[in-house]
Amino acid sequence: MWLKCKLFVRNMLRRMNVRIFLIILCAGTLPSIGIRYSIISSYEARAISVRTSDVSIQLKIIANHLITYNYLQGSPSDVINAELEQLSNLYDGRVLIINSNFRVIKDTYGISEGKYAISQEVIRCFKGESVANYDARNGYIELTTPIQSQTKDGESMVVGVMLTSVSTDTIMKTIEILNHRALVLEILMIIVIFLMASILAKLFTAPINRVTQAIGEVKDGYADRPIEVSHSDYVETEHIIETFNALMGRMKVLDDSRQEFVANVSHELKTPIASIKVLADSLLAQPDVSPELYREFLEDIVTEIDRENKIITDLLALVKMDKTTGELKVSLVNINELTELILKRLRPIARKQDVEVVFESNRIVEAQVDEVKLTLVISNLVENAIKYNKLHGWVKVSLDADHQFFTMDISDSGIGIPEDAIEHIYERFYRVDKSHSREIGGTGLGLAIARNAILMHRGSIKVSSVEGEGTTFSIKIPLNYVA
Ligand code: ADP
Repeated sequence: MWLKCKLFVRNMLRRMNVRIFLIILCAGTLPSIGIRYSIISSYEARAISVRTSDVSIQLKIIANHLITYNYLQGSPSDVINAELEQLSNLYDGRVLIINSNFRVIKDTYGISEGKYAISQEVIRCFKGESVANYDARNGYIELTTPIQSQTKDGESMVVGVMLTSVSTDTIMKTIEILNHRALVLEILMIIVIFLMASILAKLFTAPINRVTQAIGEVKDGYADRPIEVSHSDYVETEHIIETFNALMGRMKVLDDSRQEFVANVSHELKTPIASIKVLADSLLAQPDVSPELYREFLEDIVTEIDRENKIITDLLALVKMDKTTGELKVSLVNINELTELILKRLRPIARKQDVEVVFESNRIVEAQVDEVKLTLVISNLVENAIKYNKLHGWVKVSLDADHQFFTMDISDSGIGIPEDAIEHIYERFYRVDKSHSREIGGTGLGLAIARNAILMHRGSIKVSSVEGEGTTFSIKIPLNYVA
């Protein structure tokens, strides 16, 4: 139960509107409580000091009269009695007059007359020191006033003491009334501030709530438009909206490209199958098919199956090489030997078009690479250079390195790439001339695979091409792999 309460309070305090509410409430009420307390206590101090000085002045006057009327020597005086009576009535107090023998000769309460009154204050007062003490708990001020007379030599000596206590009830009553009024005002103020704090807390957090609600609607699928910035938004919430909209935009691009990819894949995979079906159907439709025709059709079917197989192999290579999930099996590879091996494998294809393939390198280059993936890169680029070449053309592969990177340029004397197509060539399934590429067995995935493999090695690929003259692909890969 206690734990639940603690959790509830903690959760409440984490809420922005609760915090704003509490801040406004405290800022509004605490100063007024402080002001009330300090005003009342300074009023009390001032009232006590005024009362003390009023009473002491009167006591001094009476003390002088006591000497004048020889009151201490026992002469009764109605004037003194009336003065004492007036003082006690006025301040609801008690006056004791003590003679030099510490004997009480007058008590306005009539209780202690004839008794002795020896206290520290009285003794100090006989030494000429008048004392005033305020007893806040019991609500009175105690004063000792020396009664001084002149000796023949003109010196003054203390011949008696007046011990007076006056009540502070009237002051306390005033303080109580003041306190009560201030409290009523304060409660009214707290109610107003409470209402103001709750309204302001709601107003201040409204833009944040609006953004949260809008994001929630997008999340739940009720809205897929960008969130609009309202004029009442804070700069901060505006930033949240902008960032969220940018994120949504990126997700949409990703989603679009994923959908396009899936559509492309299905289309590419269906094309060879459709051809195979047409070929097989037409064979079946003819009653007497000559073995030669059979053979011709079957050869076409095999070509389509090979094509399907290549698309699937390329797709798998691409998926495996997904930048985020792919893993490299890095080892120290002699790039010269690897390139020679790839070129040896591709030369027969080049020979069919009478394309000459040459390899140039002035140094032995060894690098930490994934051999299988780098083979895919080089063979795809050289294959393209052969495929998109002219009859009797050439392909030149040159390898070089510095202390950090190795570079490989694959140049050809081929058909080149139109300028407006260059930015698209790395897109999956993109082909400059779809039918030509299909004829020569292209899938549109080769450059996407090559680029991904290069990026996985933290390398880069660049292309420069002149239509009708030729193309050069340049790759740059670090010699030492850094994960
Ligand atoms: P494909 O399997 O069709 O060759 P790629 O991804 O390897 O797919 O290449 C994409 C397109 O870029 C090709 O269809 C082709 O039009 C163009 N291309 C690639 N390399 C060259 C090159 N060396 N010369 C001319 N065009 C090229």
